[in-house]
Amino acid sequence: MEDLVLDLWYKNAVIYCLDVDTFQDSNGDGIGDFAGLADRLTYLAGIGVTCVWLLPFYPTPDRDNGYDITDFYNVAPTLGTLGDFVDFSHRAEDLGIRVIVDLVVNHTSIEHPWFQAARRDPTSKYRDYYVWSKEKPKDAHQGMVFPGVQKTTWTYDKVAKAYYFHRFYEHQPDLNIANPAVREEIEKIMGFWLQLGVSGFRMDAAPFVIELKGIEGVKGVDPYSYLDEMRTFLSWRRSDAIMLAEANLEPKAVTTYFGDGHRLQMLFNFWLNQHLFLALATENADPIEKALKELPPIPESCQWGNFLRNHDEIDLGRLTEEERAAVFAEMGPEPEMQLYGRGIRRRLATMLGGDSRRLELAYSLMFSLPGTPVLWYGEEIGMGEDLSLKERNTVRTPMQWSGEEYGGFSTAPPEQQIRPIVHEGGFAYQHVNVADQRRDPGSLLNVIERLVRTRKESPEIGWGAWRLLDAKAPTVLAHCCEWRGQSLLALHNLSREPAMVTLDLTQYQCDHLIDLLDDQQPSPVQEGCFETRLPGYGYRWYRLGRPVAASTTSQDADTARSNGKVARRAKAGAAR
Ligand code: MG
Repeated sequence: MEDLVLDLWYKNAVIYCLDVDTFQDSNGDGIGDFAGLADRLTYLAGIGVTCVWLLPFYPTPDRDNGYDITDFYNVAPTLGTLGDFVDFSHRAEDLGIRVIVDLVVNHTSIEHPWFQAARRDPTSKYRDYYVWSKEKPKDAHQGMVFPGVQKTTWTYDKVAKAYYFHRFYEHQPDLNIANPAVREEIEKIMGFWLQLGVSGFRMDAAPFVIELKGIEGVKGVDPYSYLDEMRTFLSWRRSDAIMLAEANLEPKAVTTYFGDGHRLQMLFNFWLNQHLFLALATENADPIEKALKELPPIPESCQWGNFLRNHDEIDLGRLTEEERAAVFAEMGPEPEMQLYGRGIRRRLATMLGGDSRRLELAYSLMFSLPGTPVLWYGEEIGMGEDLSLKERNTVRTPMQWSGEEYGGFSTAPPEQQIRPIVHEGGFAYQHVNVADQRRDPGSLLNVIERLVRTRKESPEIGWGAWRLLDAKAPTVLAHCCEWRGQSLLALHNLSREPAMVTLDLTQYQCDHLIDLLDDQQPSPVQEGCFETRLPGYGYRWYRLGRPVAASTTSQDADTARSNGKVARRAKAGAAR
């Protein structure tokens, strides 16, 4: 049975998120496309990515970066055809890369044929696909997702002669999840993409998808039961497919989304993310320790998605006002860098002042904290943002492949480009690009590749039980992940000042530590005590080495080999 449980690919995955239209243009129209992306798959395989998460690529008027969809069963014509999608997913599979796609079913575009039919004809079957009210509800000025930009959650439609509900922008009417026909339609959408080979979905706006939106007659219905329904459907269609949900939750709400392992497999760890930024901004390890302790334990088949940046602003809404102010002051002091009163619309590299030591520290944390790492495209080379762009588009500029014109993204003239590439200042494509960093052994790209490789060879992190250790230094986070007799110890010094670390490792019965990221000699552990000095922003990953007599397998030097055994066992178990 144990081996069967092991066949959960997402527990030790490396997920890379990208937007097809800003990644690689293949036909010179200034818009990235599936053919361009397919040609760049070997690059992603080279980094060690095992799963690509695609932002929405469906037909759209594109008023919200594709999150306003007019056809859930197709590819936007500018990005290619369904045939191009299948060609891409086939080539990804050949390289051992899974694909998950954005499932955006909280709402549609106002231009979706369903909404157009619904507004014109009260007797249309599509009328009940949406949420209507004859009168303007009293709470119409509350619950906006984009405060400051969005004025209301109920907008009057002259054609329908009624108000419709929209949690997001007014051009994104919410679907009525209480209507069984809508739920059936959502399952059909999932089934369609599963049939085309995807390994699951990143579920957009999960808490809003399942909310029942004040509809009469559904009182007493548990909204979370819809997650059970989706999961059951998913598992019947493709047993290894997952749902990774976007839900910025308080710790106490987490359990309702995971259930006892029968609802969502993965949740993004927004709680940890915000406290991670607080720790980086204040150069103190306490916020990370606090966040980890506050989160409830999760079922064995579930997993956190750990990230630093994504395609949106960093949402700091769960921090206290004082904590948020500390992060703003350090990482986004200008009003133009902030958004919706709660977040920062910059990329990580600029937030950390382009300091390579701090960037490495941040990524080392992301790859070693309990969960599965999720990278946003361009992070691996330290791309910056363009603050002249609107709202969250600042961090959605074209990928910087080389120092060639337009960064090698596209050959189209500037006025045709989907979005300007970062072309001014220290983060311009002439200075920050893949081609240069490939040739530089000390580049961020090569550091990330090493972290990814080591991470994949260390299943303790994704699978194991973790524990915080007292490093006797307030700026140092020390945590240890254990799995199947193998243990990984990670040390991170959040401060710019060096720190002395003293650890009591008596409980682990180890007599030496092997540095996994450096080729130093084994460090001795004397009578259970380990001491070391970490430089400012220093980090270390160690495998705990047991005394030779006590060890039954080779625990330290050749981790890749022992993990190979694990992986093969898991596979054999799954093949049955
Ligand atoms: Mg194109």
